[in-house]
Amino acid sequence: MGTKGREIVGMDVNELVKVLNKALADEWLAYYQYWIGARVAVGQMRNAVAAELEEHAKEELEHAEMLVERILQLGGTPLLDPADWYKETNCKYEIPSDPKVKVLLAQNIRGEQCAIEVYNKLAKMTRDVDPITYNMALEILEDEVEHEEDLEALLEDLETR
Ligand code: FE
Ligand code: FE
Ligand code: MG
Repeated sequence: MGTKGREIVGMDVNELVKVLNKALADEWLAYYQYWIGARVAVGQMRNAVAAELEEHAKEELEHAEMLVERILQLGGTPLLDPADWYKETNCKYEIPSDPKVKVLLAQNIRGEQCAIEVYNKLAKMTRDVDPITYNMALEILEDEVEHEEDLEALLEDLETR
């Protein structure tokens, strides 16, 4: 982004980049948690659950792409070392060591609830000072709310069988 584009950001750009990088760490860990979960899942409705997890993985990767694009526009450096994902994450990584679909769903629901908080905070932080990041935060927040809802619906289907 050009000089003016950075100048209109009404908050500390370095602080903002830090927050965006923490969200980037979350997205990569969420991506892998979904991606590997889709492959190791066992139990009833395995195929339906795996398909949903696979779809969410793709969407988390898109979120990572949006964050990196914005970080670069702001003149920042996106996290370059995967070791930093564990250091910077807000939402952590839940190892799918018990691959039963109900357990995976519960883990991923917790992840989405954390993501919802992260993007809700980012939206509040940027609302009056950075319309571009604000708009991005809303877009991602919408997806995370949908993710939580999809997973809760699947869990409900499983539990009412
Ligand atoms: Fe995401
Ligand atoms: Fe999500
Ligand atoms: Mg979905």
